[in-house]
Amino acid sequence: MRYCARCLYPENARPTIIFDDEGVCSGCRYHQSRKTLEINWEERQKMLEQILQEAKDMAKARGNSHDCIIPVSGGKDSHFQVWLMTKKYGMNPLLVTFNHSYNSPAGLRNLENLLQKSGCDAIRYTAGLDSVRRVSRYMLETVGDLTWHYHAGIRTFPFQVAVKYNIPLIIWGEHGFAELTGIVSLEDFVEFTRWTRKEHDMRGYEPHDLIGKGGITLNDVGPYIYPTDEEIEKTEVRGIYLSNFYTWDAKEQGESMMREWNFSPVAYERDRTFNLYAKIEDHANDVHDYLKYLKFGYGRATDDASMEIRHGRMTREEGMEMVRYYDAREPSTLQNYCDFLGFTKKEFYALVDSQRDPAIWARNSAGEWEAQDAVFRHPITQSEEVQRVVQSADRTFAPENRHLYYNLKNPPLPLDDISLNKQSIKFRVL
Ligand SMILES: [Zn+2]
Repeated sequence: MRYCARCLYPENARPTIIFDDEGVCSGCRYHQSRKTLEINWEERQKMLEQILQEAKDMAKARGNSHDCIIPVSGGKDSHFQVWLMTKKYGMNPLLVTFNHSYNSPAGLRNLENLLQKSGCDAIRYTAGLDSVRRVSRYMLETVGDLTWHYHAGIRTFPFQVAVKYNIPLIIWGEHGFAELTGIVSLEDFVEFTRWTRKEHDMRGYEPHDLIGKGGITLNDVGPYIYPTDEEIEKTEVRGIYLSNFYTWDAKEQGESMMREWNFSPVAYERDRTFNLYAKIEDHANDVHDYLKYLKFGYGRATDDASMEIRHGRMTREEGMEMVRYYDAREPSTLQNYCDFLGFTKKEFYALVDSQRDPAIWARNSAGEWEAQDAVFRHPITQSEEVQRVVQSADRTFAPENRHLYYNLKNPPLPLDDISLNKQSIKFRVL
């Protein structure tokens, strides 16, 4: 396997990344491009102001009190989006949550915190647990994704609300695929469209494709049905990504939201990553991420360490240690999801068999699957040396960051809210 000479991504990373002549991946180049002077952030923020003013004017003309929708989960990004829009731009958002049911205590604590601190109006749709079970099980069997209903719901339900309440603007946070893999550039100014929703977020599936499969009914897929073109046109709703207008540094935003609005990280050792403040609201993320490892041979520690490396907060050596420690680990929540979805663990692993990428996985003589390579097996050569980024004084594992990144030698202090000090094996519906 070929690995990026700068970060730790393998060549088979999903969604697709491209390596250039120097062996550096498109995600690293994208990250670099965000720092170059060619992008005039001031000008972009003026553009954003204009879009927001338009939305305000439209809402006023419609006699609407809400000028935009912010989809929120209770994560650090939700906090930042709502904080920025209300405090800096004087928007009056309607917060919209699609409750996929796979909640962690930290997510629920932070969602409540967001409602308390922002004082905003909010709508929350809770998908029925039986529907969640059917859809989640079917998509796990078909594409190896038990969280398909998250992405489908989070990307669809806000549009249903926009149409229903005649609200012209939806404000998303980060264009995640761009930052991870650089498949679109900042110049593209991507907006949210029906196409990106289907291809990126819903793995090419529309909800109607699921009806009749695995006992799935129209009722089960109701929250995932996108409004018609006519409805979208009539509402004139558009979806924008804030990361097109602001430099997006997850650490900086996480810290500022802890300071401003008391957003909380967790204080326990997580199963799949050293990061203590990102995606902590998503209880199924550990299993979801483990599936990525079983399919492609890398997981969240690769994602998170690569980001730290790009920011110069971690060396390649430190990153490789994280990958070695976390990526292959079976999450302790796996049995709980197998029980909920009606599989044995053996059946779960058998399901993945046909989805393993032969570029990385092969069976050994005993018939067991074995990863054929890993980034930490590759020595650092001249090609990697020349690609090192300038190191920042802010180190991932510095004592002042101990509440943000789990350091085995210097773990975080316990938090006041005891539910944030110990991992919950079971998810919480409400
Ligand atoms: Zn890279």
